Amino acid sequence: MEEFQFEDIHFKRDKKTGLHAIVAIHNTKLGPALGGCRFIEYPNTLSALKDVMRLAQSMSYKAALAHLKLGGGKSVILKPKTLDNREIFFETFGEFVQEIGGRYITAMDSGTTETDMNIIARKTSYVASNTRQGHSGNPAPFTAMGCFYGMKAALEYKLKKTDFKNIHVVLQGVGQVGIALAKILHEHGAKLTVCDVNQQAVLNCVQQFNATPVTLDEATSIACDIFAPCALGGTINDQTIGKINAPIIAGCANNQLEKPKHGNILFEKDILYAPDYLINAGGLIYACSLYYGESEETIRANLEKIYDRLLEVFARSERDKQATHLVVDKMAKEILGLS
Ligand code: NAD
Repeated sequence: MEEFQFEDIHFKRDKKTGLHAIVAIHNTKLGPALGGCRFIEYPNTLSALKDVMRLAQSMSYKAALAHLKLGGGKSVILKPKTLDNREIFFETFGEFVQEIGGRYITAMDSGTTETDMNIIARKTSYVASNTRQGHSGNPAPFTAMGCFYGMKAALEYKLKKTDFKNIHVVLQGVGQVGIALAKILHEHGAKLTVCDVNQQAVLNCVQQFNATPVTLDEATSIACDIFAPCALGGTINDQTIGKINAPIIAGCANNQLEKPKHGNILFEKDILYAPDYLINAGGLIYACSLYYGESEETIRANLEKIYDRLLEVFARSERDKQATHLVVDKMAKEILGLS
């Protein structure tokens, strides 16, 4: 906690439901800590703790860079082998969030759904991605829209192009955000190549957006204008970094760089990398607006700002001769007053 400057970490164990959850609050300087609730299997508590701390810290940076009145936090629930009653389970998690008293606001993440958020909302008001006044809590379309603005900035900065006509984008992963991004890009005239472990998701993109399907391996080496990681994290790694054949990497996935050194290698190779937690902040921007009851115009205006912020990061990177992933960390720390 000291090394990464955490404020507090809360553990919950409920015998009756089998709930075993952790809430990590990294920083609340700018507001309450909002971050998703991840519901996946972990080999043990320590690996869950490491995951939630890493994610909570990046939420602080993400919220700060998006200039939101939010701090950074995250929760994980260690998924049990069997679950008797999902409703009671998530109600109990809602009670846990309520006990923390508003320093943490929960939201959707891997393994949790809008329905789960609606169940949590029965026990606490500190929840963001539940259904509110007819608005869906699903952040994916907004993450995709924000990413599109970020891609636009990268395209202008690197390739001096102002539109997506015939721009070739390779999407690695076409789940919730990937397919929403594919739709926007297709509408703007981009040429799409897609891969996914889920063949139905690939087929949908072929049929709806005239995308070219490729294997997982081919996707990382194909010549294109933008390589867009939209699946899991860590896909820029020792195995893939030498193969990537794109001048720009810009996608929605979290933790795209397996290690920070991979960001430095991209910089040396003159590949423009749009830092993940800045370009994929659209979902958080939406969740924040929903929570505070802001208007659709405010949401749109905040999403568009991803374009300006990325241009600023690219310019600072060039000026200071520093890789973009380091530039954003520095900017976020400046805003948060962290060393
Ligand atoms: P999702 O689970 O709906 O989609 C992920 C897709 O990736 C799935 O279709 C899956 O089959 C595919 N996939 C898994 N392994 C793959 C591999 N090795 N190669 C290619 N495809 C693979 O998740 P999502 O909500 O679309 O999120 C995608 C990424 O974006 C994640 O990294 C997530 O953390 C990040 N993200 C999502 C949001 C959001 O609003 N949903 C917000 C910020 C960041």
